[in-house]
Amino acid sequence: MELDRIARLAGGGGGKVLLYVLDGLGGLPLEPGGPTELEAARTPNFDELARGGTCGLHDPVAPGITPGSGPGHLALFGYDPLVYETGRGVLEALGIEFPLGPGDIAVRANFCTVDAQGRVTDRRAGRISTEEAAPLAAQLDGIELDGARCSVRHVKEHRFVLVLHPDLASGDGVDDTDPGQTGQPPRAPCARDAGSEATARLLAAWLKAAAERLADHPRANMTLLRGVSSKPDWPLFEEVFGMRAAAAAAYPMYRGVARLVGMDARTAPDGARPLVDALRARLAEHDFFFLHFKPPDKAGEDGDFDRKVAAIEEADAIVPELVDAGPDVILVTGDHSTPATMRAHSWHPVPFLIHGGPARHDAATSFGETACRTGAHGRVRGCELMRLAAASAGRLAKFGA
Ligand code: ZN
Repeated sequence: MELDRIARLAGGGGGKVLLYVLDGLGGLPLEPGGPTELEAARTPNFDELARGGTCGLHDPVAPGITPGSGPGHLALFGYDPLVYETGRGVLEALGIEFPLGPGDIAVRANFCTVDAQGRVTDRRAGRISTEEAAPLAAQLDGIELDGARCSVRHVKEHRFVLVLHPDLASGDGVDDTDPGQTGQPPRAPCARDAGSEATARLLAAWLKAAAERLADHPRANMTLLRGVSSKPDWPLFEEVFGMRAAAAAAYPMYRGVARLVGMDARTAPDGARPLVDALRARLAEHDFFFLHFKPPDKAGEDGDFDRKVAAIEEADAIVPELVDAGPDVILVTGDHSTPATMRAHSWHPVPFLIHGGPARHDAATSFGETACRTGAHGRVRGCELMRLAAASAGRLAKFGA
């Protein structure tokens, strides 16, 4: 359903919605018939919400498609990730609060090591430390090209953001330069369409200038560029759902994706407890609040089943205080599955629960993949969840007479 049609139904009145995202929530059992991470976790508070609310499973992008966290979150915000696609460069730039203007081109970049023949010997420059990399990134900031000013901001370890401010508008259809393996030279920036050729030329010129400045460094003597993208011109979350929206997340990427749709995103310290404080402090002046909790995904990617269980239990423990803060509708879910057995994101559908508002009773009496399969909502697309939550909060008017 198009966002402008939702916008016509969302009048601006209604209850407050809390979206609580446990990153990488969905999982798999260690052995056939066993519990998933969520099912193994002791989650009395999520279970109570599930009993009093309604459950289901969602496909963040589409069945069989393994989502990145960016598209996974866009879906949860109500944006179909197959329609609203953006690059990692934009997400990374917004996440470190770099103010992207119209026409700016953002790139997710990192230091690498090349040998005397220009072949990549380490794609992450020996996982260079933040302390060592930050001054190098500062050296790359402010390169002036014929046709663009260029900004560089360090992110973490080998990663940084490059932003081109071109004099003339140019497209963002430029391929990554990372060869994806060692023993090969970085690829030249290559335009996928005629409108992006100027951008590819600017990036090639920037790479040359950057390599000159890095020539004396033993490890970080070259850079790789990925996710070339410009800030998209999308309808904002508030325009679509009629809700003033805020967000709290410890990781920059998630603040970035929240800002992309106009949410007032702030930094929260690590852990579940600070999310309670963030919600308490700012729910009064907002209609929608997105809380992001990263640890389940990290544990899943590390292949640590037990740590993922513990992370889910930590997320569960703050639920009574989240409820006390007074949201009318609570939506708990993940942006994708990250089964510990796979050590990676996966395509498996993600459990969700919606608590609050008029609802049909369903059979789900606990929060888990198997229980959610029997839930009232069945299996839906991730981008449909916001509509269900908004409807539960009394925010969507009748469609047609
Ligand atoms: Zn994620």
